[in-house]
Formats: sequence, structure tokens, C-alpha cells
Amino acid sequence: MSDITKQTLTELVENIKNKKLSSTDVTKAFIDRSEKSEKLNAYITNDFTSALDKAKKFDQNPNFDLKLPGIPVAVKDLFCTKNIKTTAGSKILNNFVPTYESTVTENIWNEGAILLGKLNCDEFAMGSSNETSFFGNVQSPIDENLVPGGSSGGSASALAAQLTPVTIGTDTGGSIRQPASFTGIVGLKPTYGSCSRYGIVAFASSLDQAGPMAKNVNDCALLHEVISSYDPKDSTSIDFKRSHYSKELTNNIKGKKIGIPKEYRVDGMPKEIEDLWQKGIQYINDCGAEIINISLPNTSYALPTYYIVAPAEASSNLARYDGVKYGFRAKGENLIDMYEKTRSEGFGAEVQRRIMIGTYVLSSGYYDAYYLKAQKVRRLIKNDFDEAYKKVDAILTPSTPSSAFKIGEKTNDPVSMYLNDIFTVPVNLAGLPGISIPAGHDSKGYPLGLQIIGKAFDEQNILNIAYAMEEKINFKNKITDWWIK
Ligand code: GLN
Repeated sequence: MSDITKQTLTELVENIKNKKLSSTDVTKAFIDRSEKSEKLNAYITNDFTSALDKAKKFDQNPNFDLKLPGIPVAVKDLFCTKNIKTTAGSKILNNFVPTYESTVTENIWNEGAILLGKLNCDEFAMGSSNETSFFGNVQSPIDENLVPGGSSGGSASALAAQLTPVTIGTDTGGSIRQPASFTGIVGLKPTYGSCSRYGIVAFASSLDQAGPMAKNVNDCALLHEVISSYDPKDSTSIDFKRSHYSKELTNNIKGKKIGIPKEYRVDGMPKEIEDLWQKGIQYINDCGAEIINISLPNTSYALPTYYIVAPAEASSNLARYDGVKYGFRAKGENLIDMYEKTRSEGFGAEVQRRIMIGTYVLSSGYYDAYYLKAQKVRRLIKNDFDEAYKKVDAILTPSTPSSAFKIGEKTNDPVSMYLNDIFTVPVNLAGLPGISIPAGHDSKGYPLGLQIIGKAFDEQNILNIAYAMEEKINFKNKITDWWIK
């Protein structure tokens, strides 16, 4: 089979189970293609040699009852992997080799998956374009001038370029859904507390969630089923009854009520985004579901709220990188000088900007005016969703306010970079699940995504809606392999 890397996860699992392919065949195919794809800069660290060993071992003693039998997978370099360098895209962690494994990655290895390597990301997951990584920017397989989105840009690029059959990203304000939308793939941000945060390098702890990224909704459901678990090692992990997301997937969404929030029709939104949303509404109607206009009145406060809460938590989480406990240390005249040099040399500009904002909004005298106020507004945003969900089962919006932008286009304008997350951030603030599915192309042929937002713990429902829409949309990603030598 020459087209191994084109196959979906579900097809690969089937082909391994019925012995049409071995884990070694599959692993080799993804390694070969990854090696030819260095130009994309999707990997920070590869683990190809041991991946092949593990594949051979799997083939000698296969277990076909596992959900990911011998399937090679590359993951975002924000997940701690035991004995394998984990950098979070930062110089400060460039020599950090964890002695433990994140629960989410542990879950996939327990189901038979094999680590291919660690994928590039924005530094500490702060960014929307994968341009803040210490290891350089990632290119989009859609077009060499485009960013893949961020912060899970390496994950999105690797998946769309067929360097891994599925991947895991993290989403604090949109970092799974925005790059998914930019590269024509599916990305799910689960309900807060659904996937364990244990062993994930922390950015903003009350917002961070791991989630699956896949070529289609079925694969996404299968991977979510594996990574979502209750974990006593994470105090915010929630013990609720998880569904067999892939088995229970159905395209029957007749009678479902889908809300269209008027506040998401933002000023200056390109016509093609509005058109895409209208098309989405049409697909929903075609599936026999009902459209209901709703209001989420505090939407415009979501972005400013996020850019207080997230940096505040980040400034506290990143205090641990002091040159003593972890990673990089700069030489200094004395202890204070060493701290200062370590942090100024070890962190990039965006991370330093966030630490400064976060420290400021938490400092005495400003705490009440900024941080406390933001927490109150956060509650109002959640209340808006609670109110809406009295009338609807899910909400449909565009995933992003534009298609992918050019490399370098927004690097000198942080506010315009932050505006990218306008449709994704409210979902994190409210702790809800949201999925982005590829739904069309803009005039230049770049992918555009639609987002479906669900009630807390209602992942099955949004997966079903996405599944039904996917069938109608019949999206084809236009990948030309331009980067392969
Ligand atoms: N782009 C947003 C930020 O920079 C979201 C990042 C994320 O979800 N990790 O904060």
C-alpha cells in the first residue's frame, strides 16, 4: 500500500487489525514522509528509531483488542514524555527531560499507540501562528507563505501534511480549533476537566485543556475516547460518565436546536466568513435540525477578559522557571542577577509580555480593578451560555474571523494577533467543549472552519452534529506536497 499516510486513523486501525498492514509498515510510512518534510519544521524532537523498534515489537506480539494497535502518533511538545525532551517551544526548557509521562499521552500508549516525536508549538502555547517558538516558525502545508495557526501549529501542520495520522494539541483560548480551521482538519477542545492536565506544561491552568486533532470527525471521536479519563492526579479532573464517543457517533441530529449568536457577527468580518456561516446554517437545516437565533450579550468582553486571566495565571505558573529547578540557567554575578538573566535569556518576547501583563494585573492596587473584575466578567460570559442552553442544544459559529494569514503579517501587532481568538476564547472562559470542522475555502483556496459549541460534558452531541455536517460538507483539503524535496 503506497498511500498509507493518506489513510484515516480508523482505516489504519482496521488494516492493522485485519493484517493488511503491520505496525512496522505504517510507522515506516509516516517516518519516511516526516523525514522528507523537514522544511515544514513541524517536529522539535523525533523519536523515529525507537518508534520503529516499538512497531517491530508490536508486530511480534500484537494485541488487536487495543484501540490504537501499533499506531504511530506525534504529539504537541507541551506533553511531558518520560525520558524524552519536552520543551514547550521554549529555550528555558531546551534541556528538560521529564521523569514522568502526562496522563493524556499515557492513555494513548496504553491503547497501543507509538510515539513518533514531539511537535513544534508556540512558546508555552502562547500564540496564534506558531511564530513564537524558540525552535522557529512552522509552515502550513496549505501554502508556504502561510502560518499553520497556533499554538498547536506543529500538530496541525503535521496532521494536514500526513506526517502523523492523528495528534494531540492543547487549547487555552483556541489553540486546537484555530490551527485546525487554518489547515483544514478537525480539532476538539473538550469540556474543562474532561482530559487530565497532569504532565502538561501549564500555561493558564483554569483554561488549559488537551484535545484530539484528526482528519475527520470519526477519528477525532475515537482519539477523544482514549484521551478523556478521570485522573486523581489532576485536582480539576472530573469524574463523569464518559461516552464511547466513536461507537455512539450518529449523523441523526433531527430535531436538535442549534443557536446562532448574533454577537458573533463582528465588525469588519470578511464576507467569506459570513457566507461560510450561512452555508453552515443551510447544512444544519438539511440535516433536519432547527436554527434558533440567540444572544450571548457579553461576547465582546471575552477577549479582554481572557487577556487578563490567562496572563495572570501564566505569570504565576511560569514563576517556577528560575534557573534552579528546571532547564536553562544563565550565569549571574549573584542569585538575583542569575534569576534575571535566566528569565530574560530563556523566555521569548511574547512570554515576557504575558508575564509582565500578568504580574501587573495581579499586583496590589490593580488586582481589584483588573483581575477581580475579569473574574466577574468571566462568570457573566458563562451565564450567557447557561441562558442560551435553556433554548438550544448547541451553538454554531465560524471558528476564526479570517482564513490563515501570512508568516510575519501580524508578528509586530500583538493585538491583531489576539483578535484571531475572538470566537474561540469565550468557550474556554466558560469551560465548554467546542469543535472546529473544515467547512469550505476562501477565494484563495485556503481552508475555513466552523465551530460547534456544546453544553458542558456534551461532547457526544457536538461530535454528532459535526459528523452530520461533515457528510454534507464533503470537504477536500488541497495539499500539493510543495515542501517535499
Ligand atoms: N492564541 C491564544 C493565546 O495566545 C490561545 C493560545 C492557546 O490556546 N494555547 O493565548
